[in-house]
Amino acid sequence: MIIDHLKLLKLANRIVNVGGSSPAEASIVAEHLVEANLRGHDSHGVGMLVAYVRDLDNGTLKVNQTPEVVSDTGTISVWDAHAGYGQVVARQAVEWAIEAARKHGVAVNGLRNAHHIGRVGTYGEIAARAGMVALHFVNVASGTPGVAPFRGKEGRFLTNPVCIAIPGTDTNEPILLDFATSRVALGKVRVAHNAGKPMLSGALLDHAGKPTTNPSVMYTEPRGVVLPFGEHKGSGLALVCELLAGAIVGSASVSTATPPERGILNGMLSIVIDPARLSTRDSMLAEIDAMIAWVKSAEPADRDLPVLVAGEPERIARAERMANGIEIDDATWGQLMAIAERYQIRLDS
Ligand code: NAD
Repeated sequence: MIIDHLKLLKLANRIVNVGGSSPAEASIVAEHLVEANLRGHDSHGVGMLVAYVRDLDNGTLKVNQTPEVVSDTGTISVWDAHAGYGQVVARQAVEWAIEAARKHGVAVNGLRNAHHIGRVGTYGEIAARAGMVALHFVNVASGTPGVAPFRGKEGRFLTNPVCIAIPGTDTNEPILLDFATSRVALGKVRVAHNAGKPMLSGALLDHAGKPTTNPSVMYTEPRGVVLPFGEHKGSGLALVCELLAGAIVGSASVSTATPPERGILNGMLSIVIDPARLSTRDSMLAEIDAMIAWVKSAEPADRDLPVLVAGEPERIARAERMANGIEIDDATWGQLMAIAERYQIRLDS
Protein backbone atom coordinates (compact mmCIF):
# COMPACT_ATOMS: atom_id res chain seq x y z
CA MET A 1 0.00 0.00 0.00
CA ILE A 2 1.50 3.34 -1.07
CA ILE A 3 -0.26 6.31 0.44
CA ASP A 4 0.16 10.05 0.16
CA HIS A 5 1.45 11.61 3.39
CA LEU A 6 -1.48 14.05 3.63
CA LYS A 7 -4.02 11.20 3.53
CA LEU A 8 -2.03 9.34 6.16
CA LEU A 9 -1.92 12.47 8.29
CA LYS A 10 -5.69 12.82 8.10
CA LEU A 11 -6.21 9.19 9.12
CA ALA A 12 -3.74 9.40 12.02
CA ASN A 13 -5.27 12.68 13.19
CA ARG A 14 -8.78 11.19 13.23
CA ILE A 15 -7.67 8.07 15.10
CA VAL A 16 -5.95 10.07 17.86
CA ASN A 17 -8.83 12.54 18.02
CA VAL A 18 -11.50 9.83 18.30
CA GLY A 19 -9.29 8.27 21.00
CA GLY A 20 -10.17 11.31 23.14
CA SER A 21 -7.39 13.82 22.38
CA SER A 22 -8.05 17.50 21.79
CA PRO A 23 -7.61 18.65 18.15
CA ALA A 24 -4.27 20.27 19.13
CA GLU A 25 -2.97 17.07 20.75
CA ALA A 26 -4.19 14.92 17.85
CA SER A 27 -2.45 17.12 15.34
CA ILE A 28 0.93 17.08 17.20
CA VAL A 29 0.83 13.28 17.57
CA ALA A 30 -0.31 12.65 13.98
CA GLU A 31 2.27 15.02 12.49
CA HIS A 32 5.02 13.41 14.56
CA LEU A 33 4.08 9.90 13.39
CA VAL A 34 3.73 10.78 9.70
CA GLU A 35 6.98 12.77 9.84
CA ALA A 36 8.69 9.60 11.17
CA ASN A 37 7.33 7.67 8.16
CA LEU A 38 8.45 10.45 5.81
CA ARG A 39 11.95 10.34 7.29
CA GLY A 40 12.19 6.60 6.67
CA HIS A 41 11.59 5.45 10.27
CA ASP A 42 8.44 3.38 9.77
CA SER A 43 9.18 1.75 13.12
CA HIS A 44 8.07 5.04 14.73
CA GLY A 45 5.42 6.02 12.21
CA VAL A 46 1.66 5.50 12.04
CA GLY A 47 2.07 1.78 12.82
CA MET A 48 2.58 2.86 16.46
CA LEU A 49 -1.11 3.82 16.58
CA VAL A 50 -1.93 0.13 17.08
CA ALA A 51 -0.01 0.19 20.39
CA TYR A 52 -1.42 3.60 21.31
CA VAL A 53 -5.02 2.40 20.87
CA ARG A 54 -4.17 -0.71 22.94
CA ASP A 55 -2.78 1.56 25.68
CA LEU A 56 -5.80 3.87 25.54
CA ASP A 57 -7.99 0.79 25.97
CA ASN A 58 -6.04 -0.49 28.98
CA GLY A 59 -5.66 2.96 30.55
CA THR A 60 -1.84 3.18 30.34
CA LEU A 61 -1.95 6.12 27.90
CA LYS A 62 -3.73 9.22 29.21
CA VAL A 63 -5.06 11.85 26.82
CA ASN A 64 -4.81 15.65 27.24
CA GLN A 65 -2.33 15.61 30.13
CA THR A 66 -0.60 18.73 31.42
CA PRO A 67 2.82 17.68 32.74
CA GLU A 68 3.38 18.17 36.46
CA VAL A 69 6.37 20.46 37.15
CA VAL A 70 8.12 18.53 39.93
CA SER A 71 10.89 21.13 40.29
CA ASP A 72 12.26 24.12 38.38
CA THR A 73 15.35 26.18 39.26
CA GLY A 74 15.30 28.10 35.98
CA THR A 75 18.10 26.02 34.46
CA ILE A 76 17.12 22.57 35.69
CA SER A 77 13.59 21.28 35.68
CA VAL A 78 11.92 17.94 36.27
CA TRP A 79 8.53 17.18 34.79
CA ASP A 80 6.28 14.18 35.26
CA ALA A 81 4.10 13.45 32.25
CA HIS A 82 1.90 10.91 34.07
CA ALA A 83 1.66 8.76 30.92
CA GLY A 84 0.44 11.60 28.70
CA TYR A 85 1.20 11.46 24.96
CA GLY A 86 5.01 11.67 24.79
CA GLN A 87 5.00 13.54 21.50
CA VAL A 88 3.26 16.45 23.22
CA VAL A 89 5.07 16.60 26.58
CA ALA A 90 8.58 15.93 25.18
CA ARG A 91 8.06 18.78 22.69
CA GLN A 92 6.98 21.09 25.53
CA ALA A 93 9.99 20.00 27.60
CA VAL A 94 12.48 20.77 24.83
CA GLU A 95 10.78 24.11 24.12
CA TRP A 96 11.20 24.95 27.82
CA ALA A 97 14.89 23.94 27.66
CA ILE A 98 15.53 26.09 24.55
CA GLU A 99 14.12 29.20 26.22
CA ALA A 100 16.01 28.48 29.46
CA ALA A 101 19.27 27.90 27.52
CA ARG A 102 18.77 31.20 25.68
CA LYS A 103 18.65 32.97 29.05
CA HIS A 104 21.28 30.99 30.99
CA GLY A 105 23.45 29.31 28.32
CA VAL A 106 22.48 25.78 29.32
CA ALA A 107 19.35 24.00 30.50
CA VAL A 108 18.60 20.50 31.70
CA ASN A 109 15.19 18.86 31.73
CA GLY A 110 14.33 15.52 33.24
CA LEU A 111 11.12 14.16 31.80
CA ARG A 112 9.52 11.33 33.77
CA ASN A 113 6.96 8.78 32.72
CA ALA A 114 5.95 10.05 29.30
CA HIS A 115 4.01 7.63 27.17
CA HIS A 116 6.09 6.80 24.03
CA ILE A 117 7.86 9.99 22.86
CA GLY A 118 8.36 8.53 19.37
CA ARG A 119 11.27 9.56 17.13
CA VAL A 120 13.69 11.31 19.50
CA GLY A 121 15.26 13.17 16.56
CA THR A 122 12.13 15.33 16.46
CA TYR A 123 13.26 17.06 19.66
CA GLY A 124 16.87 17.41 18.52
CA GLU A 125 15.59 18.99 15.30
CA ILE A 126 13.51 21.54 17.21
CA ALA A 127 16.54 22.52 19.31
CA ALA A 128 18.97 22.62 16.36
CA ARG A 129 16.53 24.76 14.35
CA ALA A 130 16.55 27.19 17.27
CA GLY A 131 20.38 27.34 16.98
CA MET A 132 21.00 25.10 20.01
CA VAL A 133 23.07 22.01 20.62
CA ALA A 134 20.97 19.25 22.21
CA LEU A 135 21.70 15.92 23.86
CA HIS A 136 18.87 13.55 24.69
CA PHE A 137 19.21 10.28 26.60
CA VAL A 138 16.10 8.12 26.75
CA ASN A 139 15.08 4.98 28.62
CA VAL A 140 12.19 2.70 27.82
CA ALA A 141 10.14 0.83 30.41
CA SER A 142 7.43 -1.35 28.93
CA GLY A 143 6.93 -5.01 29.61
CA THR A 144 9.58 -7.62 28.91
CA PRO A 145 13.01 -6.15 28.11
CA GLY A 146 13.91 -7.46 24.64
CA VAL A 147 17.51 -6.22 24.30
CA ALA A 148 20.36 -8.31 25.70
CA PRO A 149 23.46 -6.78 27.28
CA PHE A 150 26.81 -7.61 25.58
CA ARG A 151 27.52 -11.36 26.03
CA GLY A 152 23.97 -11.99 27.29
CA LYS A 153 21.16 -14.01 25.72
CA GLU A 154 18.46 -12.63 28.01
CA GLY A 155 16.89 -9.19 27.66
CA ARG A 156 17.85 -6.60 30.26
CA PHE A 157 17.14 -3.33 28.39
CA LEU A 158 14.74 -1.98 25.85
CA THR A 159 16.02 0.07 22.92
CA ASN A 160 17.13 3.15 24.96
CA PRO A 161 17.74 5.73 22.19
CA VAL A 162 20.17 8.62 22.20
CA CYS A 163 20.06 11.79 20.11
CA ILE A 164 22.66 14.53 19.62
CA ALA A 165 21.83 17.53 17.46
CA ILE A 166 24.21 20.22 16.17
CA PRO A 167 22.83 23.39 14.52
CA GLY A 168 22.95 23.79 10.76
CA THR A 169 24.68 26.59 8.85
CA ASP A 170 23.82 28.63 5.74
CA THR A 171 24.98 25.71 3.60
CA ASN A 172 24.43 22.62 5.75
CA GLU A 173 21.36 21.25 7.50
CA PRO A 174 21.73 20.32 11.20
CA ILE A 175 23.65 17.18 12.12
CA LEU A 176 21.11 14.86 13.68
CA LEU A 177 22.46 11.72 15.28
CA ASP A 178 19.45 9.76 16.50
CA PHE A 179 19.40 6.02 17.07
CA ALA A 180 18.41 3.17 19.32
CA THR A 181 21.26 1.59 21.29
CA SER A 182 20.02 -1.80 20.10
CA ARG A 183 21.36 -3.02 16.75
CA VAL A 184 17.89 -2.18 15.37
CA ALA A 185 14.85 -0.47 16.87
CA LEU A 186 12.27 -3.04 18.09
CA GLY A 187 9.75 -1.38 15.78
CA LYS A 188 11.96 -2.36 12.83
CA VAL A 189 11.70 -6.00 13.93
CA ARG A 190 7.89 -5.51 14.05
CA VAL A 191 7.90 -3.97 10.54
CA ALA A 192 10.01 -6.88 9.17
CA HIS A 193 7.82 -9.44 10.99
CA ASN A 194 4.66 -7.85 9.56
CA ALA A 195 6.17 -7.72 6.09
CA GLY A 196 7.48 -11.32 6.30
CA LYS A 197 11.02 -10.09 5.60
CA PRO A 198 14.28 -11.24 7.24
CA MET A 199 16.26 -8.91 9.52
CA LEU A 200 19.87 -8.01 8.82
CA SER A 201 22.33 -10.47 10.32
CA GLY A 202 23.97 -9.65 13.65
CA ALA A 203 20.79 -8.11 15.10
CA LEU A 204 18.95 -11.04 16.72
CA LEU A 205 19.54 -14.17 18.80
CA ASP A 206 16.92 -16.88 19.17
CA HIS A 207 15.94 -18.08 22.68
CA ALA A 208 18.86 -20.52 22.68
CA GLY A 209 21.33 -17.70 22.01
CA LYS A 210 21.93 -18.64 18.35
CA PRO A 211 22.23 -15.81 15.76
CA THR A 212 19.20 -15.57 13.47
CA THR A 213 17.66 -13.23 10.89
CA ASN A 214 14.10 -14.43 11.59
CA PRO A 215 12.12 -11.55 13.20
CA SER A 216 9.44 -13.95 14.47
CA VAL A 217 11.78 -15.03 17.32
CA MET A 218 10.66 -11.81 19.05
CA TYR A 219 6.98 -12.78 18.73
CA THR A 220 6.98 -16.46 19.71
CA GLU A 221 7.64 -18.03 23.12
CA PRO A 222 10.29 -18.63 24.33
CA ARG A 223 11.39 -15.27 22.95
CA GLY A 224 14.73 -14.34 21.45
CA VAL A 225 16.55 -11.04 21.95
CA VAL A 226 17.80 -8.06 19.96
CA LEU A 227 21.52 -7.37 20.40
CA PRO A 228 22.99 -3.99 21.35
CA PHE A 229 24.85 -2.19 18.53
CA GLY A 230 28.65 -2.15 18.64
CA GLU A 231 29.05 -4.96 21.17
CA HIS A 232 30.23 -3.64 24.59
CA LYS A 233 30.06 -0.01 23.39
CA GLY A 234 26.36 0.01 22.53
CA SER A 235 25.62 -2.12 25.57
CA GLY A 236 27.40 0.44 27.77
CA LEU A 237 25.50 3.31 26.12
CA ALA A 238 22.21 1.44 26.67
CA LEU A 239 23.08 1.13 30.36
CA VAL A 240 23.91 4.82 30.79
CA CYS A 241 20.75 5.86 28.87
CA GLU A 242 18.79 3.68 31.29
CA LEU A 243 20.53 5.21 34.31
CA LEU A 244 20.44 8.84 33.10
CA ALA A 245 16.80 8.82 32.00
CA GLY A 246 15.56 6.30 34.59
CA ALA A 247 17.43 6.28 37.92
CA ILE A 248 18.77 9.85 37.69
CA VAL A 249 15.68 11.56 36.24
CA GLY A 250 13.44 9.46 38.49
CA SER A 251 11.40 7.89 35.71
CA ALA A 252 10.11 4.32 35.59
CA SER A 253 12.98 1.89 35.12
CA VAL A 254 13.25 -1.38 33.26
CA SER A 255 14.90 -3.02 36.27
CA THR A 256 11.87 -2.62 38.50
CA ALA A 257 8.93 -4.97 37.97
CA THR A 258 7.65 -4.03 34.53
CA PRO A 259 4.14 -5.33 34.10
CA PRO A 260 3.15 -5.43 30.41
CA GLU A 261 0.08 -3.34 31.26
CA ARG A 262 2.39 -0.41 31.98
CA GLY A 263 2.17 0.53 28.30
CA ILE A 264 5.21 2.22 26.75
CA LEU A 265 6.89 4.65 29.13
CA ASN A 266 9.88 6.82 28.23
CA GLY A 267 12.07 8.87 30.54
CA MET A 268 14.32 11.48 28.92
CA LEU A 269 17.24 13.57 30.13
CA SER A 270 17.67 16.57 27.79
CA ILE A 271 20.64 18.92 27.90
CA VAL A 272 20.32 22.00 25.70
CA ILE A 273 23.34 24.28 25.22
CA ASP A 274 23.51 27.67 23.55
CA PRO A 275 26.73 27.29 21.51
CA ALA A 276 27.14 31.07 21.34
CA ARG A 277 28.28 30.83 24.99
CA LEU A 278 31.18 28.57 23.98
CA SER A 279 32.60 30.16 20.82
CA THR A 280 31.82 32.93 18.35
CA ARG A 281 28.98 32.10 16.00
CA ASP A 282 30.95 32.78 12.80
CA SER A 283 33.91 30.58 13.74
CA MET A 284 31.60 27.80 14.91
CA LEU A 285 29.56 27.81 11.70
CA ALA A 286 32.71 27.90 9.54
CA GLU A 287 34.17 24.94 11.47
CA ILE A 288 30.94 22.95 11.14
CA ASP A 289 30.90 23.53 7.37
CA ALA A 290 34.59 22.63 7.07
CA MET A 291 34.16 19.43 9.10
CA ILE A 292 31.14 18.24 7.11
CA ALA A 293 32.95 18.93 3.83
CA TRP A 294 36.02 17.06 5.12
CA VAL A 295 34.03 13.99 6.16
CA LYS A 296 32.09 13.89 2.90
CA SER A 297 35.27 14.29 0.85
CA ALA A 298 36.29 10.73 1.79
CA GLU A 299 36.33 8.48 -1.27
CA PRO A 300 33.41 6.00 -0.91
CA ALA A 301 34.40 2.35 -0.52
CA ASP A 302 31.49 1.52 -2.84
CA ARG A 303 30.75 4.09 -5.56
CA ASP A 304 27.01 3.46 -5.25
CA LEU A 305 27.03 4.28 -1.53
CA PRO A 306 28.15 7.88 -0.97
CA VAL A 307 29.53 9.04 2.38
CA LEU A 308 26.71 10.77 4.30
CA VAL A 309 26.50 12.60 7.61
CA ALA A 310 23.91 11.99 10.33
CA GLY A 311 20.55 13.47 9.39
CA GLU A 312 21.13 13.14 5.64
CA PRO A 313 19.50 9.71 5.10
CA GLU A 314 16.31 11.04 6.72
CA ARG A 315 16.28 14.12 4.44
CA ILE A 316 16.80 11.93 1.38
CA ALA A 317 13.96 9.61 2.48
CA ARG A 318 11.71 12.60 3.15
CA ALA A 319 12.20 14.10 -0.32
CA GLU A 320 11.52 10.71 -1.94
CA ARG A 321 8.44 9.92 0.16
CA MET A 322 6.95 13.41 -0.19
CA ALA A 323 7.16 12.93 -3.96
CA ASN A 324 6.17 9.28 -4.27
CA GLY A 325 4.12 8.49 -1.16
CA ILE A 326 4.74 6.30 1.88
CA GLU A 327 4.74 2.53 1.66
CA ILE A 328 2.80 0.87 4.48
CA ASP A 329 3.06 -2.93 4.78
CA ASP A 330 -0.17 -4.94 4.46
CA ALA A 331 -0.26 -6.12 8.08
CA THR A 332 0.13 -2.57 9.45
CA TRP A 333 -2.44 -1.24 6.98
CA GLY A 334 -4.89 -4.01 7.98
CA GLN A 335 -4.44 -3.11 11.68
CA LEU A 336 -5.03 0.58 10.95
CA MET A 337 -8.15 -0.22 8.92
CA ALA A 338 -9.48 -2.35 11.80
CA ILE A 339 -9.06 0.65 14.13
CA ALA A 340 -10.69 2.97 11.58
CA GLU A 341 -13.64 0.60 11.32
CA ARG A 342 -13.99 0.30 15.09
CA TYR A 343 -13.83 4.11 15.48
CA GLN A 344 -16.19 4.50 12.47
CA ILE A 345 -13.68 6.61 10.58
CA ARG A 346 -14.32 6.78 6.84
CA LEU A 347 -11.15 7.28 4.85
CA ASP A 348 -12.80 9.63 2.34
CA SER A 349 -14.52 11.78 4.97
P1 NAD B 1 19.06 3.96 12.47
O1 NAD B 1 19.79 2.71 12.77
O2 NAD B 1 18.38 4.11 11.16
O3 NAD B 1 20.12 5.16 12.66
C1 NAD B 1 19.68 6.45 12.42
C2 NAD B 1 20.83 7.41 12.64
O4 NAD B 1 21.97 7.05 11.87
C3 NAD B 1 20.42 8.79 12.13
O5 NAD B 1 21.12 9.77 12.87
C4 NAD B 1 20.89 8.72 10.68
O6 NAD B 1 21.03 10.01 10.11
C5 NAD B 1 22.20 8.01 10.83
N1 NAD B 1 22.57 7.28 9.61
C6 NAD B 1 21.90 6.25 9.05
N2 NAD B 1 22.54 5.84 7.93
C7 NAD B 1 23.64 6.62 7.81
C8 NAD B 1 24.69 6.69 6.85
N3 NAD B 1 24.76 5.87 5.79
N4 NAD B 1 25.65 7.61 7.03
C9 NAD B 1 25.61 8.47 8.08
N5 NAD B 1 24.64 8.45 9.01
C10 NAD B 1 23.66 7.54 8.87
O7 NAD B 1 17.99 4.30 13.61
P2 NAD B 1 17.30 3.32 14.67
O8 NAD B 1 18.29 2.90 15.69
O9 NAD B 1 16.57 2.26 13.93
O10 NAD B 1 16.25 4.30 15.36
C11 NAD B 1 15.11 4.72 14.60
C12 NAD B 1 14.32 5.71 15.37
O11 NAD B 1 13.72 5.08 16.48
C13 NAD B 1 15.08 6.89 15.95
O12 NAD B 1 14.42 8.08 15.53
C14 NAD B 1 14.95 6.75 17.47
O13 NAD B 1 14.83 7.96 18.17
C15 NAD B 1 13.66 5.98 17.56
N6 NAD B 1 13.55 5.22 18.80
C16 NAD B 1 12.66 5.65 19.75
C17 NAD B 1 12.49 4.91 20.92
C18 NAD B 1 11.51 5.34 21.99
O14 NAD B 1 11.31 4.60 22.94
N7 NAD B 1 10.88 6.48 21.88
C19 NAD B 1 13.23 3.75 21.13
C20 NAD B 1 14.14 3.36 20.14
C21 NAD B 1 14.29 4.08 18.98
